[in-house]
Amino acid sequence: MPVWTKPVLSLIGISTLAVLGCGESTPAPVAPAPEPPAASATATVASQPEATPPVTPPAPPGVKTGPVPASPQAKSFKLGAFTVVALRDATFLAANDTKVIGVGQTVDTVGAELKKAGLPEDRIELNVGALLVKTGKHTVLLDSGLGDGPKGALVESLKLAGVAPGDVTDVLITHSHFDHVGGLVTGAGSLTYPKATIRLSNKEWTALQANADLAKLVAVITPKVKGFEPGAEVVPGITAVELYGHTPGHLGYEVKSGKDRLFDLGDLVHSSVISLAKPEWTMGFDGDTALGAKVRRARLEKLAKDKELVFAPHFPFPSVGYVSAQDGAFAWKGQIPGE
Ligand SMILES: [Zn+2]
Repeated sequence: MPVWTKPVLSLIGISTLAVLGCGESTPAPVAPAPEPPAASATATVASQPEATPPVTPPAPPGVKTGPVPASPQAKSFKLGAFTVVALRDATFLAANDTKVIGVGQTVDTVGAELKKAGLPEDRIELNVGALLVKTGKHTVLLDSGLGDGPKGALVESLKLAGVAPGDVTDVLITHSHFDHVGGLVTGAGSLTYPKATIRLSNKEWTALQANADLAKLVAVITPKVKGFEPGAEVVPGITAVELYGHTPGHLGYEVKSGKDRLFDLGDLVHSSVISLAKPEWTMGFDGDTALGAKVRRARLEKLAKDKELVFAPHFPFPSVGYVSAQDGAFAWKGQIPGE
């Protein structure tokens, strides 16, 4: 059975986006109470008392949630001696129903934040993306998107960057939700990047292996997986940074060449508006919501202070820019270095 059948649908049917979780691919009515993100089965939204606030009205009619196909896109820039390419995989739509984003808030409160940013109040649109780093010796993909079975365009985006799947030497995974690992395996059930070593934290690999919904994916990738401990320089110039909370072994990656640095945040953040303006709000995609919020604020503070370039795969494509401090929280400015 191709990966994108029952297991995926059930994962995606999850809480809307356990994947980014990720949500339903069909008009998803009023989202059911979120179920646990598959890879982080412990402290989940379902166990959070604020996950089902009694005042939450139904999702606005007409807002479909779930992955939506997007055109392939690749945006390349230099980082020291490295070439970095932001890649587009898909779009993900979530209704503003406080089931996942802004859990415990009201729809109006979340809507007001969206409106302030000039966005529609009834939905939250997320990018699904990945990052390519060409170091000269290694061709490294950071996360693998949804994959070609569902709605992902990542391999097509890679082609735009002049890279074939067989060129990829390493795939570094931030965490094991489907929109980050789904693309490791093709719709036909084989390795998408046949020559690549697949790297993720030991803790996250343990969580992924325990995820029955992704058993087929696990079976295919197991011979290629090499775990490590956070803090490791996984590939020369790319260091894994512990950002636990979203999932048990969630990581960020710092890419460094010469004086230039870029930090891939993985799913520390999801909405470029809500995750930055209200970092403490409970994020239903986080397995450990309290830890997720704490780690989110601490890392955002550091990135704003250091004025470090950031890649956030769920922020609007190309998902590259800077975090700044604003009104006791943070704001996003998309910017490609040198442009
Ligand atoms: Zn995600």
